[in-house]
Parts: sequence; C-alpha cells; structure tokens
Amino acid sequence: MHRYAVALGSNLGDRLEHLRQGVTRLEREAGARELRKSRVYDTDPVGGPQEQPPYLNAAVAFHSALEPQHLLELLLDIERREGRVRLEPSGPRTLDLDLLLCDDLRLEQPGLTVPHPRMHLRAFVLAPLADVAPGWIVPGLGQTVSALLAKVDTTGVRPTDLRL
Ligand code: ADP
Ligand code: MG
Repeated sequence: MHRYAVALGSNLGDRLEHLRQGVTRLEREAGARELRKSRVYDTDPVGGPQEQPPYLNAAVAFHSALEPQHLLELLLDIERREGRVRLEPSGPRTLDLDLLLCDDLRLEQPGLTVPHPRMHLRAFVLAPLADVAPGWIVPGLGQTVSALLAKVDTTGVRPTDLRL
C-alpha cells in the first residue's frame, strides 16, 4: 500500500461536478482507502492564457495498492473521460488531476515526477493539501505542507462552502 496525495482542479463547465466525478472515480478505480477530502477553493488562474475562467481546486489523500506509474495513468484516463482536451499549456480544463505526493518517495520517471515539481510554489495546491495532510513532510524539501503554505501568497485562494 502507498499513501498518496492528489490535487484536483477545474475551470470549465460544471466545475464542482467534474471534481466530484474525479473523486468518485478515484475511490472506485484506485481502490482508495481512508480517503480524506479537502475543502473546495475558488482560485484565480495562475499562468496560461489571459482571461481564462477562475478555478475550483481541491485535494484528496488516500491509501491505494496501485503503483505510482499506474495511478498516474489512471489520473490521465479519468481526465480524458471528464472531457479534458489539451489545447495549450496551462489552458482551461474540465479536470486536472496531479499526483502530488507518494509516501516519502522521490521519483523521476519519464512523464512522472514526484513530488510534483511546482506544488510548493502554488497556494492553490498547498491550501487544500493542508486540509488533508498538513504534517506530511515533502520529500526533497524537508518541510511540512503547512510550513510551505505559510510561505506562499494566498491572495486569490478562497475557501468556499462547497463540499466534494
Ligand atoms: P499541469 O497539470 O502542470 O497544468 P498538464 O496536466 O497538462 O499540466 O500536464 C500533465 C503532464 O505532466 C502529464 O502528461 C504527465 O505525464 C506529466 N507529469 C509529470 N509528473 C506528474 C505528476 N506528478 N502529476 C501529474 N502529471 C505529471
Ligand atoms: Mg496536470
């Protein structure tokens, strides 16, 4: 078994429904156990084309028997089934699923880097992650999620009353 953290984001269509579908499919298809769900955050887009719509972001932490490469393949497949089309880098998407953390592992494989290389810079990732795994020490950085969150600018990252 591995302990995983996954980030979810959506800024097209029924954003909350895309996030919920992502969680439901992970629960079913990754055999996720002890799944914890973050709050849902309304966030200003970072990077990408001008004037793309705001995001909803969330995070989940769970146990799964899948190996990291297989979990990533599943995440990409779930994105496709939620209608994601890659038109331009960092462009709008129905569902983005990023593999953030796996145990205390550092992985560098073709198409898969863990911890996710930009997660420690992104308040829209760290804020939801801190809801489900504040004390997880990010491998390679040696700092907890909540310590990393305290260092980034959280302007534009707003918790909502929505629930996954
Ligand atoms: P982003 O999420 O950075 O906006 P994309 O979702 O379009 O960009 O890019 C995902 C690509 O990044 C995937 O094709 C995948 O192979 C690669 N990748 C590398 N490491 C990871 C990771 N930890 N989680 C998700 N995708 C990753
Ligand atoms: Mg992604």
